[in-house]
Amino acid sequence: MGQLNYTNLGYGISCIDAQYVRPGLASCYLIEEDGHAAFIDVGTNHSIPLLIELLNIKNIPVENVDFIIPTHVHLDHAGGAGKLMQLCPNAQLIIHPRGARHMIDPSRLQAGASAVYGEIEFKKQYGDLVPIDEQRVTEACDGFNLDFQGRQLNIIDTPGHAKHHFCIVDKTSNGMFTGDTFGVSYPELTVDDQPFIFPPTSPVDFNPDDWLNSIDKLMSTQCERAYLTHFCMVKNLNPLADALRDRIKIFAKFAKHASTSDALTQQIKAYFIDEISATGCQLSPENLFKILALDIDLISQGLRVWLEKKPQK
Ligand SMILES: [Zn+2]
Repeated sequence: MGQLNYTNLGYGISCIDAQYVRPGLASCYLIEEDGHAAFIDVGTNHSIPLLIELLNIKNIPVENVDFIIPTHVHLDHAGGAGKLMQLCPNAQLIIHPRGARHMIDPSRLQAGASAVYGEIEFKKQYGDLVPIDEQRVTEACDGFNLDFQGRQLNIIDTPGHAKHHFCIVDKTSNGMFTGDTFGVSYPELTVDDQPFIFPPTSPVDFNPDDWLNSIDKLMSTQCERAYLTHFCMVKNLNPLADALRDRIKIFAKFAKHASTSDALTQQIKAYFIDEISATGCQLSPENLFKILALDIDLISQGLRVWLEKKPQK
């Protein structure tokens, strides 16, 4: 387990480093309202002690955690949800209807991921997933409105990265918690306050048309800031939305025209080098690939899965 590292972002919102894979890769968010807490995205089982430590620092008893809200059921967002629910006796889990059964019975999630990583590596990375009592799970559809101690949190269904993905709009901060839908932007790649943002087209649900619609939906909220899971807060959202739209289309095009999966991976790598060096980023290609290795892998895997599923014209 890593050390607690968190940032207060105003409006009672804290960004906590989940210490998943490396520092600066995945965030969890704590919202405080009137002595109560809600968590949005919780990292893995290994992140949970950090979230509890922050509650202690803020003098919020675990009994006052009202809501635990993973944006979707990928394990870097929801892997620790069951464990956190055990520690927070009054919390309700708020989850996309397509993700609920995997939180109630995580055996399929665990078996699927163990098959990918191997049992030992899975246990090391994620620990055992803890099931959540059905009575404590609320399925939230598009338009669902959550009253958190008088603070309004609105759920927007946002497929494209995953079919079980929603985002949460917080009127108080005029911000939205976007999970992976509003892309990935690592602090190391920000140059002159300009974040570099890209769509994580990870397996198995990538859908470019759905994703473009979801970005339009998010932008129609007129929110001023987006709280990304990977990583932390971004502002000035219009140019970022444009970059995301472009890159969703470009990645889909790469996938359609790539001769082999290896060629696709190489093309994505070359694209990242070109685009990131154009921003004036001083990182060497070697360091760049250290930061992006996992994403490049998942992006090309996800694109291949999408192509295989796509009905051929
Ligand atoms: Zn995800």
